[in-house]
Amino acid sequence: MIVHFFECRLELVQGDITTQSVDAIVNAANSRLAGGGGVDGAIHAAAGPALLAETDSRYPEGCPTGDAVATSAGQLPAKHVFHAVGPVWRGGMQQEEQQLRSAWRRCLELAVEHSCRSIAFPAISTGVYGYPVDLAARASLETVRDFLVEHRQPEMVRVVLFGEGAYGAFSRVLEEMVQ
Ligand code: ADP
Repeated sequence: MIVHFFECRLELVQGDITTQSVDAIVNAANSRLAGGGGVDGAIHAAAGPALLAETDSRYPEGCPTGDAVATSAGQLPAKHVFHAVGPVWRGGMQQEEQQLRSAWRRCLELAVEHSCRSIAFPAISTGVYGYPVDLAARASLETVRDFLVEHRQPEMVRVVLFGEGAYGAFSRVLEEMVQ
């Protein structure tokens, strides 16, 4: 699914984020930037050991929830990896939505800072961190829309959904948003 906000393009695709040819890909990291399973494991496996070496040396303190840090992308087709730390879902009353929105916004800000024309995101927090996918879709896509409307960049934002369920949930929310 593709929609435009002014001259910017927002795409939803089903697939694997590690194969995306974009300027930056976003990793759903943990706050220690320690590497893990899920999309984080897939990104580190595809990028090679340089990624973990760089997060260890540049960000020994890790990264707080709701924030993101940038590294190079090792052997990935992208130029940069933005390691974003989404919230663990604890029922919805612990500022999870605010933290999820902040993690997405920080990545979009990093994209602008690093002159990225294109960026690909996974569905941050919807795996092991347990954020309900329909709620995550709304918070995430609204954050992208608001950023693109305000800043008119990056040119292309792609959300790469791993599986039909997540793709369906994000598409339904995006359809509602543009009606
Ligand atoms: P979190 O800890 O933030 O929940 P996960 O990696 O467990 O992170 O899951 C985040 C989302 O990424 C989930 O929807 C999961 O299905 C998805 N995912 C896992 N592997 C990939 C991949 N290779 N490409 C894109 N998305 C992926």
